[in-house]
Amino acid sequence: HATKKTMADHLRKYESLFTLTPQRMRMIVEAFKDSLELGLKKPEQVVPMIPTFVFGWPSGKESGDFLALDLGGTNLRVCLVTLQGEGKFEMTQTKYRLTEEQKQDEGQKLFDFCAECLKTFVDTNFTDGDGKSLLKPGEMLPLGFTFSYPCVQERIDHGKLIRWTKGFGALNTEGRDVAEMFRRSIQKYKVPVVMTALINDTTGTLIASSYVNPRTKIAVIFGTGCNAAYMENVKDIDKIKDLGIDEKAQMAINCEWGAFDSFEHEHLPRTKYDIIVDETSNKPGEQAFEKLISGRYLGEILRLVICELIDEGVLFLGQETYKLETPYVFETAFLSLMESDPTDELLMIIGIFTHFFAVETTLAERQFFRALAMLIGRRAARLSACGIAAIVSKMGYLDEGCLVGADGSLYNKYPGFAERVHEGLFDVFGEKGRNIITHHAEDGSGVGSAIIAAMTKVRR
Ligand code: ADP
Repeated sequence: HATKKTMADHLRKYESLFTLTPQRMRMIVEAFKDSLELGLKKPEQVVPMIPTFVFGWPSGKESGDFLALDLGGTNLRVCLVTLQGEGKFEMTQTKYRLTEEQKQDEGQKLFDFCAECLKTFVDTNFTDGDGKSLLKPGEMLPLGFTFSYPCVQERIDHGKLIRWTKGFGALNTEGRDVAEMFRRSIQKYKVPVVMTALINDTTGTLIASSYVNPRTKIAVIFGTGCNAAYMENVKDIDKIKDLGIDEKAQMAINCEWGAFDSFEHEHLPRTKYDIIVDETSNKPGEQAFEKLISGRYLGEILRLVICELIDEGVLFLGQETYKLETPYVFETAFLSLMESDPTDELLMIIGIFTHFFAVETTLAERQFFRALAMLIGRRAARLSACGIAAIVSKMGYLDEGCLVGADGSLYNKYPGFAERVHEGLFDVFGEKGRNIITHHAEDGSGVGSAIIAAMTKVRR
């Protein structure tokens, strides 16, 4: 079989499909910059660039006890954050699991449940050994509410839910002010708190990272989704000119950058696998950038390549492969595991394929899978670098350099992800790209929310 293609031959095809040259990256950065600027000019652009009404950076001196309530996915979390000033804090937290029913039932009931959990938490943490309240009569604790679903805000303590995401579907909530709904529940359960801020986790991460290290200028989340926030000059946010906010002020922007290139599909290098992921998703056309990067999709992209090679009769000949044929069965965590397999025989990869998919693999195939994971993971990191580079270049942070606070399982657990982002920044900017450094961020949805509550308390 002198003409039969080897796995290494196949790999070359995918290398060329998934590799981003520095030149291509620089083109993406330019287009990204234009999109960010357009989003600041006019409402309802591809990249929404949502004003957060979080004004300026924390001083690092914020201090006191603050509560944070985080509604963002599987759990509801209540945190007590003690800010100690000088960029230091302590935190205690309790998690409450949400049932599938609660996510789909009446919205007001969901907020009632949040208020109940909050009450239990306050009762437990603010009583002495005899069960006597430690709060002074009439004392109210300040609370930051982290609500990580897209909202339009007119003030920091207000937010109209545009639409539920991440599997939530609570009734009579979309289009309504969720801060007001939650406030009603707080009153109903007579919880001694005042909600001073409604924030998104990306904004929280930005503020929490800056509190701890003031060189942080940008925050990025790499989880189920992908999003970023940064601090913008109010004078450059044309679309809120009418509000008469002091032109010298700064305001955090929640970019919602996962939407970059949505519908147009002009700038990002999509392969046919990316197009299948998009077209079979529940929101075709949307979140185009996120679909090439985030934890929700990377495993699926790899699975689609495997399925193609099964169909072409290259892989698993004579074996039952139906277990690999269900969408989304191949988790992004498998890519992490494959890339970190330390053995020559790639025993971890044997394990994944036999245990989860009941197929046997040859060493050449396993080496191919690992190389493929590397290509897909590397492309995600380099595309993220393009987004970061667009903000850096727009804001002029390159010469001085800055830190980028990053969080989410993909960033925290995927081996080499951060190094690949840094490599990408080097490819875009050359030597100066080394001035932009990502680091694991502080818990933005807890600590960040508390700091913002503290900042807004001062402003009142
Ligand atoms: P959130 O849902 O709040 O964004 P995470 O930051 O934990 O939560 O992100 C979850 C995403 O991370 C999932 O899409 C999952 O596939 C992915 N993920 C989980 N573990 C890993 C891992 N070890 N390596 C890479 N991705 C992972």
